[in-house]
Amino acid sequence: MPFNIQKIRKDFPILKRKVNGYPLVYLDNAATSQKPQQVIDCIVDYYSNYNANIHRGVHTLSQEATDAYEISRQKIQKHFNAKNPFEIIFTSGTTHGINLVAQGFSEFLKEGDEIIVSAMEHHSNIVPWQMLCERTGAILNVIPMSEQGILVFSEYEKMLSEKTKLVFVNHISNALGTINPIKKIIEKAHEVDAAVLIDGAQSCSHIKPDLQALDVDFYVTSAHKMCGPTGVGILYMKEKWGNKLPPYQGGGEMIAEVTFEKTTYAGLPHKFEAGTPNICGGIAFGAAIDYLNEVGFQNIEKHENELLAYATSELLKIEGLKIYGTGPDKTSVVSFNIEGIHPYDIGTIVDKMGIAVRTGHHCAQPIMDFYKIPGTVRASFAFYNTIEEVDILVNAVKKAKMMLS
Ligand SMILES: *Cc1c(COP(=O)(O)O)cnc(C)c1O
Repeated sequence: MPFNIQKIRKDFPILKRKVNGYPLVYLDNAATSQKPQQVIDCIVDYYSNYNANIHRGVHTLSQEATDAYEISRQKIQKHFNAKNPFEIIFTSGTTHGINLVAQGFSEFLKEGDEIIVSAMEHHSNIVPWQMLCERTGAILNVIPMSEQGILVFSEYEKMLSEKTKLVFVNHISNALGTINPIKKIIEKAHEVDAAVLIDGAQSCSHIKPDLQALDVDFYVTSAHKMCGPTGVGILYMKEKWGNKLPPYQGGGEMIAEVTFEKTTYAGLPHKFEAGTPNICGGIAFGAAIDYLNEVGFQNIEKHENELLAYATSELLKIEGLKIYGTGPDKTSVVSFNIEGIHPYDIGTIVDKMGIAVRTGHHCAQPIMDFYKIPGTVRASFAFYNTIEEVDILVNAVKKAKMMLS
């Protein structure tokens, strides 16, 4: 399908909105994406026509809901090129998936074992590992990053040893936009038999990862960052880990048989899906993936790279403006500050002009500590943003600078 930005924008009802009297310019896509009509329709259709609990009923509605939910799982499996549908576990999102793995590894780690994370992780990818280390006596090592916001690969290689049990890195940094070399990271970790979990929350709206080619052990993402609803995501785990890892929560759906003496667990993926899941969310996640594939990931990448290049060069023309995250491999995230001005003040002023950017530490305080700044202004672009919107942003930032300095 050819890329027609005006046609695409019509799919997103919220983009017609005005904010403070101005047309909305939504540049907070790294926090959450907007939803196309196709996904909204899918949600309305579910609740209007076949809402029922799944996997339990023999009645028609329950079967329709179960079918739609499982078809969505298969869609997601194909999209990410997982080997089997049961390797896709529905979660409430990235954070849930990470915690599920961290909890499971409690049983495998002992004192002195090592876990490696990167210096550019989201808080949801730091705290569960610190908790895991407290429970087990394992040690957390951190791959440092350079001034450009690139992981220092040679330092990572030095950290790896037979003590390393787990490596956790995000695919793309939400605060800097850096794309990490995950294939190389996974290969190196496997040389010492360490498992790898990749946080894909920030990548799946921009690129289509091939999980079998990556040979990754675990991969997590959230639907809401890829045009789907909030409160649903997936944890991919290789079959061997699915069999090895203990269940995370007890409850309905995850059991094969319960007596007061002993409970046997259901097979994959149900072992990890206790309780009634976000059925509608799971189905709508599939609709979001269909939508993104219809737009086409090549189109998405090309358009977003144009936005990134233009925004970078135009913003850098503003005197005193500094961009954080300047590596060659990055997605359409521009994190910046203007000398002498607090990011929060810029964010507040541009909001008055209808522009949504994020200000603050972006759940990545260690990165802010590294640069010795309180936070940044972050403009993150999606495929439905336009070059004109970049101009609107740049002009608004110039105005904010004039008002504040
Ligand atoms: C958004 C994000 C998360 C957290 O995702 P939730 O949907 O809030 O669980 C984790 N890591 C990265 C890189 C993110 O961008």
